[in-house]
Amino acid sequence: PSAGIPPLEVSDLTVRFAGLTALDSVTFTVRPGTVHALIGPNGAGKSTCFNVLTGVYRATEGSVRLGEQELTGLPPHRIADLGVARIFQNLALPPHATVEDSLLLGRHRLTRTGFLAAGLRLPSAAREDRRHRARVREIAEFVGIADCLGHPAGSLPYGRQKLAELARALCMEPKVLLLDEPVAGMTADERRRTAAVIAGVRDSLGISIVLVEHDMGVVMRLADSVTVLDFGRRIADGAPGDVQNDPAVIRAYLGE
Ligand code: ADP
Ligand code: MG
Repeated sequence: PSAGIPPLEVSDLTVRFAGLTALDSVTFTVRPGTVHALIGPNGAGKSTCFNVLTGVYRATEGSVRLGEQELTGLPPHRIADLGVARIFQNLALPPHATVEDSLLLGRHRLTRTGFLAAGLRLPSAAREDRRHRARVREIAEFVGIADCLGHPAGSLPYGRQKLAELARALCMEPKVLLLDEPVAGMTADERRRTAAVIAGVRDSLGISIVLVEHDMGVVMRLADSVTVLDFGRRIADGAPGDVQNDPAVIRAYLGE
């Protein structure tokens, strides 16, 4: 299912703020259709890394490439257009709009006919609208929130809102999905459900996932590979089982 999904390559990425090196020559590769976890104690540089991957922060040195495409230095909307979608740690869906309307907005960047055709109610626009609605329903069913489509997002329990955000990101048909603590604040049952959906995104849709997550149970269950950061440096990289037993990793977490 990962046909057409290129590897995401982060090479020697350095980000300096005034007097502080948040990322220090960090390198890792996210293979197509895999879950790559990015872990490390608070302040390690995980969010900074996501901010560079999405074009919010500029790299001081190094590069980020999606296949042949250089992402370094591109503005956030261009990077999103190239297929990198992000889900934030805090809830971001407009609370009063229905979930369906929010998901349809997520498909806005895919719209070819444009506002003029839609405004003139051309048949092409109506066809496109029907296609988008059908795809939104399909994705909602995949994520398990089809019964929420007609409800305002803000009226749903927390776990369902988080799944609706995941659905909105999928509506952009991304190649790479960046998840920032997707199960934080969830009940045990919601965590299990969300982990299963994330595994499904990888296994059925073939999308690559970069996962920042503090819940080590979820990381160990989902990740195909792991990069561990500490004070902006990569201190370990490899299979979850190996990284978990790495003395440098254990030291970094104990030193927190
Ligand atoms: P993590 O997400 O792993 O907890 P962050 O990437 O948020 O770590 O932070 C890494 C380091 O970079 C921290 O020391 C943080 O204070 C610093 N930092 C992050 N963003 C900025 C910024 N915009 N300006 C200055 N320092 C920042
Ligand atoms: Mg962070």
